[in-house]
Amino acid sequence: MQSELNEMYRSLGVSESVLRFAESVETALKPRFAAIDARAEYNQMKVIKAMQDNRVSDIHFAATTGYGYNDIGRDTLEQVYASCFHTEAALVRPQLMSGTHALHIALSGNLRPGDELLSPAGGPYDTLEEVIGIRPSVGSLAEYGISYRQVDLLPDGTFDYENIRKAVNDKTKLVTIQRSKGYATRPTFSVEQIGQLIAYVKKLKPDVICMVDNCYGEFVELNEPTDVGADMIVGSLIKNPGGGLAPIGGYIAGRQDCIDRAAYRLSAPGLGREVGASLGLNQSLYQGFFLAPTVVAGALKGAVFAANVYERLGFAVHPNGTEERHDIIQAVTFGKPEAVIAFCEGIQAAAPVDSFVKPEPWDMPGYDSPVIMAAGAFVQGSSIELSADAPIRPPYTVFFQGGLTWYHARLGILKSLQALCDAGLVTLPQEAI
Ligand SMILES: *Cc1c(COP(=O)(O)O)cnc(C)c1O
Repeated sequence: MQSELNEMYRSLGVSESVLRFAESVETALKPRFAAIDARAEYNQMKVIKAMQDNRVSDIHFAATTGYGYNDIGRDTLEQVYASCFHTEAALVRPQLMSGTHALHIALSGNLRPGDELLSPAGGPYDTLEEVIGIRPSVGSLAEYGISYRQVDLLPDGTFDYENIRKAVNDKTKLVTIQRSKGYATRPTFSVEQIGQLIAYVKKLKPDVICMVDNCYGEFVELNEPTDVGADMIVGSLIKNPGGGLAPIGGYIAGRQDCIDRAAYRLSAPGLGREVGASLGLNQSLYQGFFLAPTVVAGALKGAVFAANVYERLGFAVHPNGTEERHDIIQAVTFGKPEAVIAFCEGIQAAAPVDSFVKPEPWDMPGYDSPVIMAAGAFVQGSSIELSADAPIRPPYTVFFQGGLTWYHARLGILKSLQALCDAGLVTLPQEAI
């Protein structure tokens, strides 16, 4: 079997020495992988329990059109999310077009003119800067008279409780906490840390709404932020909870009144959650949620494997090879533009779709340096599928995430390493090959 497998890898362009080096790294990761599998098993049971408790049935996969009144498939799916995340309610809709849109609806639905939004954990994800109005933008919260305050993290990446206490005031209505570091260099917060921050804020001001941007975090741990006091969690269905099958969508899960206000914002005052046809997408959303825990486990194994491969070769990796994971993103710093490009070419060459395409850096709108992106995805822009992106600027860091199966994530890393070796940018340690 091993020789057939190696032969198959060779036919995909992975050399004997890269394979042997990868195996030497992987052997040591068995206990880590077992722990990831154990968490996935727990989360799989959690999803199945939520589906059984809500009596999911064939009828829920039927399509509705037009207004979408009485779409019991949609309403039951929202109950499934609410059960799984232990919340009173949820909005799970293809009409939530992306993570940014879902966050915008959660914020603009729950904030009113004169209110203040507080980010106690540093600056938010890039796209939220325009939603909030940190960068002036048409239609931002700032244009609607909603002010914004931010408390940066301390130099060691922890919460600055002293300044958070000073920042909470009469106007503070909603606190936004981003779980994943996204493409920043700060650490990703654990659910436990988020719980401590929420408890602190609620002690200062009990009626403040605590919202967590849960993108890239779902099913990485046993609990979600709603288990530790969050009033709302928000995410994208083309990341973790869509399991790779959702072709579009976002979710907001949380307290009934918060979800209702978001629903009135998403559709219209007076209409709320009663409208919104599911257009035949229900089955993919259910099935994707069902698969999500194992898909996330595959992506996590890929991230841990990449961290250990590149750490062993002497590159700075973030998180490092042994750290506990709180999201699925892996950063590797190469220090050279050619290496970033070779890495991305390897990821692209491993894809089931568009493997023959060569990614190139380009001047993407909104970025101050060229950006290279590798993705051969079934769903456009899906970052639960294996993908990598990097701005071409010092320190030349590439961000790597996803993989619908562990085997595909593994191939991506092998091909990236092969591309780096072929370009003479990496030499494998002799003792390992
Ligand atoms: C991806 C992401 C978003 C935005 O989601 P899109 O679907 O790309 O709009 C927001 N916050 C975080 C932390 C993310 O990772």
